[in-house]
Amino acid sequence: MNIHEYQARDLLSSAGVAVPRGAVAKTAEEAEAIARSLPCNSFVVKAQVHAGGRGKGHFQDGYKSGVHLVKTPHQVRDVAQHMIGNTLITHQTGPEGKPVHSVLVGESTEIARELYLAIVLDRSSGCPVIVASQQGGMEIEAVAEKNPEAILREVIHPGLGLQPYQARKVSIFLGFPSTGLRAPCRLLHAAYRLFIEKDCSQVEINPLAVTKGGDVVALDAKLNFDDNALFRHKEIQDLQDPSQEDPRDLAAAEHHLNYIGLEGNIGCMVNGAGLAMATLDLIQAAGGKPANFLDVGGGASEQMITAAFRLLQADSSVKAILVNIFGGILKCDLLAQGMISACRNNPPRVPIIVRLQGTNVEQGRKLLKESGLPLIPAEGLMEAAEKAVTAASGKKGK
Ligand code: GDP
Ligand code: MN
Repeated sequence: MNIHEYQARDLLSSAGVAVPRGAVAKTAEEAEAIARSLPCNSFVVKAQVHAGGRGKGHFQDGYKSGVHLVKTPHQVRDVAQHMIGNTLITHQTGPEGKPVHSVLVGESTEIARELYLAIVLDRSSGCPVIVASQQGGMEIEAVAEKNPEAILREVIHPGLGLQPYQARKVSIFLGFPSTGLRAPCRLLHAAYRLFIEKDCSQVEINPLAVTKGGDVVALDAKLNFDDNALFRHKEIQDLQDPSQEDPRDLAAAEHHLNYIGLEGNIGCMVNGAGLAMATLDLIQAAGGKPANFLDVGGGASEQMITAAFRLLQADSSVKAILVNIFGGILKCDLLAQGMISACRNNPPRVPIIVRLQGTNVEQGRKLLKESGLPLIPAEGLMEAAEKAVTAASGKKGK
């Protein structure tokens, strides 16, 4: 799960990481009022979306950049007016962009150096790893490609935690003088504590700024949380902003469906994660591209089947639906009933290929046949995938 920058700043600040003064505004008037309350004479206004690259981004109406530096509360109001209600497009949002419903208004920081600092989970070592670079402010992927030696990766033993010598090593790599290690080391310990306590999958501070006054502050922050640990962090769950999420994923979560949106055009409904993945592979092997992973599970109810089917039907990129069910605990007749009731309320707009096997398969096939729905039956797995690919391409099948 993702949260907004202003929320990440609050969490970092509570953990003991210095962040610039500021607050979030939902209207231009609020933005101006916040600016007036800040004891400073230059301000930064930042569009709040769940995506990075805002500084280099642009709005749907051509307005430039999601990060503006201005001098007066009046200008803060102007910028906020442009941003709120607009859609920001960055290299991370995709061409459709993300809606801006709020802006962060803060004191502008006088930057001496921009550093990069992140704590993420390293899958190869199975440990948290600190990623640090003096080349902050830009994309770390670009640094990794052009200048990999400019990045330090320090693996933390999860049982021992961040050791003082490791914090010093990272701070020295970041260019702090040996007499000035206290502030960056404290910041590293605070960020690591937050990472562990809140079950983060990522704490990214880019840039971590060294100010002209010599302070070390988190100018931008991106926190990501492990969805499987959210049940023990009600306070994090409450930070969720549905306006920033893929509507398909939201609908799926609402019905407790195990769903992942993909880029292709063949909607899939399968039971069992293994069979679902095999189905995606078969579609690829047959020359097609799946629109999603969807495992309706062994114990799916008729309501869940109906919801799953509706979700696939509502996805405008879906040009054919492949239903691949091996009836075990989930019986084929129940699946058929779910499909029929979903299609009654929502007549199919794309070809549907159905491969049923297993418990009550005859009853299931009979129900589907008698329903009068325009379904394309298939027996074998490859046959089903090929029929789906042909149907999605708009050609007539054999
Ligand atoms: P991002 O583009 O979404 O990563 O947004 P950032 O918050 O990282 O802002 C992009 C860039 O704007 C930063 O790398 C800084 O160079 C600049 N910036 C952001 N906040 C400030 C600020 O308070 N003062 C100054 N001088 N520059 C800032
Ligand atoms: Mn940034």
